[in-house]
Amino acid sequence: MPEAHSKWSASGFKKIMLCPGSKVLEVGQPDNTSIYAAEGTAAHELLEMVLTNEVPALGYVGRIIQADGFDIEVTDEMAEYIQGVADRVKDYQGDDGVLFVEQKLCYADYIGVPREEGWGTGDVVIARGDEIIVIDLKYGKGQWVDVKENPQLSLYGLGALDKFNGIAGDFTRVRLVIDQPRISEKPSEWDTTVEKLEAWGRSTARSVVNTCRTAEGNADLKGDATWQETFLRPGEDQCKFCKAKAKCPKLRDEVAATVFETTAASPDEFAEAELPYTSYASQDADWVAACLNKVDLIEDWCKAIRADADRRLLNGEPVRGYKVVAGKKGHRSWGNATEVEELMKSMRLKTEEMYSLKLITPTAAEKLTKDGTIGPRQWPKLKALITQADGKPHVAPESDPRPALDLKPVTDDFVVESLDDLA
Ligand code: SF4
Repeated sequence: MPEAHSKWSASGFKKIMLCPGSKVLEVGQPDNTSIYAAEGTAAHELLEMVLTNEVPALGYVGRIIQADGFDIEVTDEMAEYIQGVADRVKDYQGDDGVLFVEQKLCYADYIGVPREEGWGTGDVVIARGDEIIVIDLKYGKGQWVDVKENPQLSLYGLGALDKFNGIAGDFTRVRLVIDQPRISEKPSEWDTTVEKLEAWGRSTARSVVNTCRTAEGNADLKGDATWQETFLRPGEDQCKFCKAKAKCPKLRDEVAATVFETTAASPDEFAEAELPYTSYASQDADWVAACLNKVDLIEDWCKAIRADADRRLLNGEPVRGYKVVAGKKGHRSWGNATEVEELMKSMRLKTEEMYSLKLITPTAAEKLTKDGTIGPRQWPKLKALITQADGKPHVAPESDPRPALDLKPVTDDFVVESLDDLA
């Protein structure tokens, strides 16, 4: 159930909270689909199958899940991560919790909008004693999302209360959980009370909706500096998932002010702006930290501009100074594999010459323990031969839950060019 059909979607609420004008600028913009988003959708579908069918995730390895226009194969890696999430869900459920999976959660009454306009999809809801638990899976491996006061989870919490309070239990407490298995095996948790969450919905969330409605009511002024100043507020959290990045004047100004130390009133002025190398000349660690803070935002903007230019040119629209050319040819492959096999056999090629055999992975071997192909006494012997490389060192913000690696400063005679040198 894609939340895009909900006008006040939970997944997009943080964005409009931080930048109410995005509600206007995103109208009519094409959806951003990517293989990463599709992978996330497939991981959610896998979790739903594991929890509802009570089949281990490993049982789905090799299955193709169609998501957002992509064919995503369930890999050993995805199965392991999702099994971890499913196991943690079972821990939250305990012996006395009641589990609900993939629930449409309507929070419209709290935020003051029509019911068909204010809902989202909760991955997991558990009713347990006087507590309602809402668990959200985030399959990305980029940035850690903290659950405390997270608007998306808060709205799911309200939707869960709307649907289950007084029916599946009488709740006084709400536990909100974000599970990001590719970053940490320990989910981010926030405990709050029904009273506090409902107060947030009726005051803060409702006032966000009202501000957006004011922006929408004056949408015909969106070209004016005053409207833009009032309603557009660029920042990494809100711009990252905004469909209007490529056309947003305030984001463009923010990038120009950061990179060129000036804003530009026209395309020609922007094109002629020069990099002020002097500011970054000293390269001390404080400058690196300050610049790193802006890198994600600028990179997101760059990607959005490239995508917009591609879309226009591929639609036949002109973009001054650019054209479409044929790309590099793809890899060679057999058109009809059966015909090739028959021809090779007629040429008397041996099996080992025709096929490349590969040893199965540890995950695939473990799967064979389920039907007894590998017995309980054989598996420990194979398990002892499994090795696993440490993850590559990776730069993350201080808020990331993983502990910092204890790296000694390098001396002059050993220069680290990149983090890959440390791997
Ligand atoms: S790109 Fe950023 S500033 Fe512009 S509308 Fe979107 S969220 Fe707001």
